[in-house]
Amino acid sequence: MALVNKTNAKPATLAAQALGWVDEQTRAIAPPLHLSSTFLRDEDNLYRSGRNYARGDNPAFDQPEAVLAALENGADALVFASGMAAATSVFQALAPGDHVVAPKVMYWSLRNWIAGFANTWGIGVDFADMSDLDAVGRAMRPDRTKLVWIETPGNPMWNITDIAAVTEIAHTAGARLAADSTVATPVLSRPIEYGADLVMHSATKYLNGHSDIVAGALITRAEDEFWGRIKNNRVQIGGILGSFESWLLLRGMRTLFPRVKTACAAAQKLAEAMVQHPHVREVLYPGLPDFPGHDIAARQMGGGFGGMLSIRVRAGEAAAIATAAKVQIWKRATSLGGVESLIEHRASIEGPDTPCPPDLLRLSVGIEDVDDLISDLSAALDAAHE
Ligand SMILES: *Cc1c(COP(=O)(O)O)cnc(C)c1O
Repeated sequence: MALVNKTNAKPATLAAQALGWVDEQTRAIAPPLHLSSTFLRDEDNLYRSGRNYARGDNPAFDQPEAVLAALENGADALVFASGMAAATSVFQALAPGDHVVAPKVMYWSLRNWIAGFANTWGIGVDFADMSDLDAVGRAMRPDRTKLVWIETPGNPMWNITDIAAVTEIAHTAGARLAADSTVATPVLSRPIEYGADLVMHSATKYLNGHSDIVAGALITRAEDEFWGRIKNNRVQIGGILGSFESWLLLRGMRTLFPRVKTACAAAQKLAEAMVQHPHVREVLYPGLPDFPGHDIAARQMGGGFGGMLSIRVRAGEAAAIATAAKVQIWKRATSLGGVESLIEHRASIEGPDTPCPPDLLRLSVGIEDVDDLISDLSAALDAAHE
């Protein structure tokens, strides 16, 4: 499989053409779908194709992984069965006795898993406010902290973490830095360029973009020993992506740039409209100039502040839930990063221990006409308060 980047093209070009790859046999522009679970052994008992069994050697992974490594400016990439499979594989590459620092507010299912896994696996974990660099420094345990996990912008308050500054704290203590960059996407931010060692994506979200697969990805800055452990774990634990899902992910990534740019512009306009709405107490969006972390976001995100925002409904939880019930165009559903806009009362899904305020509605802005999105949400807010 020939991967072509002879032109040193820009990331949007690499994504649109999936690195310009063309099938040598058929001259097909869209790649064939490889479904084989096993590969022919040579007569002298060798496997010169380099492939023997699809848990380890699926050709369907080659192209999406090469695109991901190129877009994130990494040395290598791996696709996984889900974002959670990708994220947990990083923690599973740690050894009992190691210590981890993770954000206080982050993707809720992963936070829950870390807290439980840390106990049973013998890993120490501290949850820190990643926007407070002194607090991050205090959470580090010299010689024990092996991993600092960040998520920026972070679910569901969109807190911004200074990737370069936290990476420096991690590296000074001898720890790796891994960034969940699901919401930022490589269109807006490339954590490896700020020193991050690993980048994680729920590819279910923007990378695929069409709400029709569950997938995850990791990209590494260097093909070091830790990466080797993660790679082995994928083969051995078997959390691999299916061939058809890999094909769909590659297809979805071709439109990543225009989708993300459209969503960013719409989210900015929606956020500015919601600031004016009488029933909205607060708008959480990194693109608003008075949002804490706005200046850092402006520095480390290029071309927009993302397609995710949250609003806090002035009258409280019942009014927030009623607002989500009244929308006509927005879809009431969890997840994010698809072409259709989603609204979610986030505290309901995170459960009783959530740090998410009960009056918060999480909004994933799609690529519809933004004026439709603004009028639908405004009307739902008004109708919920009648
Ligand atoms: C969805 C999501 C995950 C988990 O990914 P799955 O594909 O659902 O397993 C992790 N982090 C963030 C920020 C997410 O939005």
